[in-house]
Amino acid sequence: MTPAPRDTTAASANPAASIASTGSTHWVVRMNHRNRAGSWLMAFSILALYFQEQGYGLWHWGFMSLQFLVYPHLVYLRARRAPDPLAAEIWNLRLDSFCFGIWTAVLGAPLWICFTLIICGCINLAAFAAGRGVLQALGAAMVGALLTLVLGGAASAFKPETSLPVSLLCMAALAVYLILFAQDAQQRTVTLHNTRQKLRQSESALQERLEAIQALQAQLREQANRDPLTGLYNRRYLDDTLQRELDRCARAGLPLSLLLIDLDHFKQINDRHGHAAGDAVLCQVSALLLQHMRSSDICCRWGGEEFLLVLPGVGPDAAAERAELCRRVLAEQGNTETLPCAVTLSIGVATCAAEAGTAPAALIDAADRALYRAKAEGRDRVCVAAAQALQ
Ligand code: GH3
Ligand code: MG
Ligand code: MG
Repeated sequence: MTPAPRDTTAASANPAASIASTGSTHWVVRMNHRNRAGSWLMAFSILALYFQEQGYGLWHWGFMSLQFLVYPHLVYLRARRAPDPLAAEIWNLRLDSFCFGIWTAVLGAPLWICFTLIICGCINLAAFAAGRGVLQALGAAMVGALLTLVLGGAASAFKPETSLPVSLLCMAALAVYLILFAQDAQQRTVTLHNTRQKLRQSESALQERLEAIQALQAQLREQANRDPLTGLYNRRYLDDTLQRELDRCARAGLPLSLLLIDLDHFKQINDRHGHAAGDAVLCQVSALLLQHMRSSDICCRWGGEEFLLVLPGVGPDAAAERAELCRRVLAEQGNTETLPCAVTLSIGVATCAAEAGTAPAALIDAADRALYRAKAEGRDRVCVAAAQALQ
């Protein structure tokens, strides 16, 4: 009789992989040593009673004492020193059953004693290797018994009966063993359940943290692409996006227009009404641009008081109309006093024709030159870059 393995589930699923060593001795080896020493002491007391009743001599007593009192410690030392302690321990369990087979033959198979020993051997190995373990235990016991019978002398005649006290002691030992085994299994099930629950909890906590980190990353990405004052996209975002938009329009055979918008005499607004009023104007102009753009347009703050509108799929005429609309709406807002002062816009328009394959820098440059022209021609106006400005 030996052990109730510490983690029957893990051990039987894949003992070598799932059972780790703790300190210098494998935990299965330590546990089996403790359990084997205890359960084999119970077996010793059964056999001691039986030997006394049957009047066995000194040799039997000597071997029996060696087997049930000394052997558990010897096999423990063997497993401890083995290169693979777990494998050695499983061999110990097979050896246990082999020894039970020998004793079965030696004693003439007293049923209660043999049943108790052999069934415990089967249970021990079943905990590590399920049905295969039972077969191994039975096989080892059979080999032990047959070897003893073949080698002869020691085997006694078939004596299946045991006295009532011996039978009762066997029953009690078996009951204690099975109850301890079941109790151990139950504790392990509870521990496993609790561990799984904790794992699930930490898994969902980790998931939550991951989602929070991902949300934060998205927020940071968004912030890195936004101008803090107006909330519009910044120049950095446009640097990444304009080439992509140009490629997309070229693939779709569509034009793309840029409106480069500059507030006229903005320095004077700052000087006359203060920097805060200047900021308010910038915010209001941003809001106005957002109001008048389509979902596919991209609006960014290009510089201090300059804005750039990207209009994918929009040709030069429509772009000039959109620019004129923005200019007019802002001029009207100044009149209705929603702005702290009258503000006018100068706008340069440049268009990349469908499939023209213009580089972003060349397109921006053309819009900038058109804007410069608008300024030079007296401000508060829209100027469209000529198609050849892009060549
Ligand atoms: P122009 O009609 O030729 O464009 O004249 P301008 O005064 O608008 O242009 P200029 O380049 O001389 O001045 C731009 C001013 O914009 C100067 C700068 O102080 C102001 N500015 C730039 N960024 C900000 C900002 O974030 N807030 C405020 N309030 N002013 C800004
Ligand atoms: Mg400017
Ligand atoms: Mg300006």
